[in-house]
Amino acid sequence: MKFRYEHFGGIVAIDEPPALVHVDRLFVEELGMPPGPRWGEPDPGHLSAPTEVHLMTTNRCPAGCPGCYTGAVPDGEEPEGRAVREVLTRLAEHGVFHVALGGGESLLREDLFELAAHARSVGLVPNLTTSGIGLTREAAERCRVFGQVNVSLDGVGEAYRAARGYDGSGVALRALERLVEAGVPAGVNFVVQRCNWAAMEETVAAVAGRGGNEVEFLRFKPAGRGFDGYLERRLRPEQAEALLPRLLALGERYPAVHMKVDCSFVPFLCASDPDPEVLAQFGVIGCEAGNVLAAVKADLQATPCSFVEEPLGGVDALVDRWDDHPSLRAWRTFPERAPEPCASCPYQAVCRGGCKVVSRRLTGELFVPDPECPRVRRHAQAVEAGEEA
Ligand code: SF4
Ligand code: SF4
Repeated sequence: MKFRYEHFGGIVAIDEPPALVHVDRLFVEELGMPPGPRWGEPDPGHLSAPTEVHLMTTNRCPAGCPGCYTGAVPDGEEPEGRAVREVLTRLAEHGVFHVALGGGESLLREDLFELAAHARSVGLVPNLTTSGIGLTREAAERCRVFGQVNVSLDGVGEAYRAARGYDGSGVALRALERLVEAGVPAGVNFVVQRCNWAAMEETVAAVAGRGGNEVEFLRFKPAGRGFDGYLERRLRPEQAEALLPRLLALGERYPAVHMKVDCSFVPFLCASDPDPEVLAQFGVIGCEAGNVLAAVKADLQATPCSFVEEPLGGVDALVDRWDDHPSLRAWRTFPERAPEPCASCPYQAVCRGGCKVVSRRLTGELFVPDPECPRVRRHAQAVEAGEEA
């Protein structure tokens, strides 16, 4: 059992089911552990380290998807294995629990499994995201080193082609089958766009039929090659408002598949005025960049989340400068200074103002309420109509 102290008590990593559990000080003391090193200090307002870091192991990929958020190309940047191992070691020493290895296409790295084994050896749980290209039976067996492998599957057949420019769904589904056959916990990531919105159910059915354990739905991000085509690919307002009812219906129809949503979808879910327990069902955390989450890119520069381009510096920014880096502080404290409607939004504590990457794409500014949040839209319309100050 891995444990780390936090100001409120601590975080315990449990294996079955895999989860990170936040516990209070009393619970820690009842475990027979001494008081935490920072319990006597004022509440810093953020975690002692990210719980999960997204690590781009390469920016090489042959697929050329038009919406690729890293802009991966066949001869993209790739850090040396030794340097990646050093980053992993430093993150583990800092108390990070999970590393999500992604790309580009990480399976192109000859040393991918050595990197994953190194992560395990220093106490991290490595997870993997892959297109499935190159996932042979042998590679699937070796994927047992990962805690979870998710294959990118943005629809089946024509829906995949519309989303990614070619139909790679056969390759992705075969990869999922191989992983499940090898006993690897495996599911899919589905980036939802207006062109594949109608394919959500068919895709979940395909995953359920192959024994996949989860589908994580992600919002399309205006980053990398996705920046220019964003306006045509993003969900329509009525689709955004219909997201939660649609997910609940899918959850009922396919109970064996865990439905998850990524951080940036939280404002869309909140539009339906959900009970907080319903949000918890989807593993919801809002914009926790620079607190719960952080990223390290292929040039080994750290960022608050994988979709943000401006670097914070090397991995030192996430380790030595974690508490006082001015940019991290700006990300963490946005909810305290967020204007209306976020300031009085009942979901502010979980949503934290929506996706800053979308805000910047649409307004030029990072730290403004997410303009695609239905509540933000309605507020803007009311202001324009002179109904609200
Ligand atoms: S109003 Fe702000 S805090 Fe509330 S759901 Fe929308 S973006 Fe999130
Ligand atoms: S900016 Fe925030 S909400 Fe958007 S992807 Fe990054 S962490 Fe998620």
